[in-house]
Amino acid sequence: MDLYVEGDPVADATAPDGPIETRWDRRRFEAKLVNPANRRKMTVIVVGTGLAGGSAAATLAEQGYQVRTYCYQDSPRRAHSIAAQGGINAAKNYRNDGDSVHRLFYDTVKGGDFRSRESNVHRLAEVSVNIIDQCVAQGVPFAREYGGLLDTRSFGGAQVQRTFYARGQTGQQLLLGAYQALERQIGLGTVEMNARHEMLELIVVDGRARGIVVRDLVTGEITSEFADAVVLATGGYGNVFYLSTNAKGCNVTATWRAHRKGAYFANPCYTQIHPTCIPVSGDHQSKLTLMSESLRNDGRVWVPKAKGDRRGPKDIPEDERDYYLERIYPSFGNLVPRDIASRAAKNVCDEGRGVGPTGLGVYLDFADAIDRLGRKAIEAKYGNLFEMYERITGEDPYQVPMRIYPAVHYTMGGLWVDYDLQSTIPGLFVIGEANFSDHGANRLGASALMQGLADGYFVLPNTIANYLAAGPFAPVTASHPAAVEARRGVEDRIQRLLAVDGDRTVDSFHRELGQIMWEHCGMERSEAGLRKAIDEIRALREQFWQRVRVPGDGEGLNQSLEKAGRVADFFELAELMCVDALHREESCGGHFRAEHQTPDGEAQRDDERFAYVAAWEFADGDQPPVLHKEDLTFEYVHPTQRSYK
Ligand SMILES: Cc1cc2nc3c(=O)[nH]c(=O)nc-3n(C[C@H](O)[C@H](O)[C@H](O)COP(=O)(O)OP(=O)(O)OC[C@H]3O[C@@H](n4cnc5c(N)ncnc54)[C@H](O)[C@@H]3O)c2cc1C
Repeated sequence: MDLYVEGDPVADATAPDGPIETRWDRRRFEAKLVNPANRRKMTVIVVGTGLAGGSAAATLAEQGYQVRTYCYQDSPRRAHSIAAQGGINAAKNYRNDGDSVHRLFYDTVKGGDFRSRESNVHRLAEVSVNIIDQCVAQGVPFAREYGGLLDTRSFGGAQVQRTFYARGQTGQQLLLGAYQALERQIGLGTVEMNARHEMLELIVVDGRARGIVVRDLVTGEITSEFADAVVLATGGYGNVFYLSTNAKGCNVTATWRAHRKGAYFANPCYTQIHPTCIPVSGDHQSKLTLMSESLRNDGRVWVPKAKGDRRGPKDIPEDERDYYLERIYPSFGNLVPRDIASRAAKNVCDEGRGVGPTGLGVYLDFADAIDRLGRKAIEAKYGNLFEMYERITGEDPYQVPMRIYPAVHYTMGGLWVDYDLQSTIPGLFVIGEANFSDHGANRLGASALMQGLADGYFVLPNTIANYLAAGPFAPVTASHPAAVEARRGVEDRIQRLLAVDGDRTVDSFHRELGQIMWEHCGMERSEAGLRKAIDEIRALREQFWQRVRVPGDGEGLNQSLEKAGRVADFFELAELMCVDALHREESCGGHFRAEHQTPDGEAQRDDERFAYVAAWEFADGDQPPVLHKEDLTFEYVHPTQRSYK
């Protein structure tokens, strides 16, 4: 049987045309509004209270809607967003170094290897400036220069300094800002917060998203919740690889369940592999640690020139070192985008020049910066990151260079949304890392926080009104057949997982799945490897349903059960990722096909055949998924071979 079939193209019907700098204003003007008295009559469910969901829920409540939020942690403050380290981009041009909305737009379209929508990216660049004002007004303690002005630093893929930061804890500080805004609304009674609740199904009534089925993770109680619209802000799915920099809980269940109910899943194979992570040290590990990209502002990346050179870094003289990023990409040097830096690290390690016990590592060296700026200055900028590195590796990066290696970090793919951030299911909106929207085939550093907050504070609160203007919709109750069916699906699935009563842990399956994905759908992919991966995933999935062991029952807290449900969904997603990677016969951004590279080893796009978003429709039973293409057009940033040389 074919691995997929092709369906009709999909179009973004809400995208405005006209001069690009007027499109967002026009869309806001032309979209319908809901008057304040009517907002009170409508309920919006927001699943996820990280940066995207927290900011959206607070803003919608501020506007007057009734909001109900859900997250699986014990507090919104524990969302994965809290881990974000390096910073958030904005086209403020405080440095007067040539930045502008247009330049941020240009850098992002180019950085995404010409696989994102121009209209969306331009809007993101416009809104970026508002985010900083909003967060400063909330009291987010961004780093400041001696004179009191907001400080910025550089991130990859840009030659201007547009990244605002709060030491190495930018996500935490931004999340506290969003959380305070959310708490204020909780206090006012406009937001009902449901922590430790996991969404396990979407309820679709007469073609519209009208609710969710959730499980109380403490009591095991399953309930159906209803609203006029549902927003998914449930983050990314990098943990399909088992080892990643993501928080252990990150998963695909909410978006995958919506996909199974009709929401298209776009570009699932676009995965970001971050170049600067602490290398894997053994098979006992369940998680990898990021060393922020901001470190490449001052750290220099190198390996020995000679293969198999086992000397310590201090014993290798300057002229026997290869600062390969500075050599190959002199214009951007150590600050090339992540996809480029990751591949370059892989290449030097494949050549046998990697460092550390496994040979899968390169140095990130601060000796020059410490000489130039002094230890105190480096401590002030990166102190907490250096401390984290030392705690994990036992090595002091002020004395010896850090050792780093690429690791899975972010997923550019996600549920397909139109310009209004609405999925293919009316009434289902998707924001933050959970959607596919703005980053194309490679996300530039410091732009996930920008996108999550743009979606949550500014875009969704405007666009959702166009949909809700037709509401309030007829009330739905738990006895509605669609709700009964959704709930029964959740209960059956839990029973099925518990009933297997096999002999292998959920983690052992997850780890094996991750190894298949890393090997064949990771930094480099090939047709043969992807076909092999699909066979292996199918075989392992079959085994999972025969041999998985989930101890305990569904009547209370049961973390094995939670994990089992998530891993079951990862199995299905993993296959779609491989199919997507297999069908995309080109290399672009984070998707590198061994068969498609330029003579000097860079990604070789095929714009004639692949300048589209791949939006996949779920097919029931054993039918293959259906591919719908959304053509991408470029009027302002013309696709060229991406060069950082
Ligand atoms: C180590 C690290 C450092 C990073 N540093 C940066 C940086 O410096 N700059 C930058 O721009 N980006 C950075 N990123 C990326 C960025 O942090 C994330 O992309 C972003 O925070 C995602 O935000 P989000 O709101 O979309 O999702 P998340 O923060 O992942 O929130 C997801 C929410 O959904 C909830 N949820 C998920 N599934 C369910 C379900 N089924 N039921 C109920 N609730 C559910 C969770 O409980 C949570 O509340 C970093 C990422 C990592 C891993």
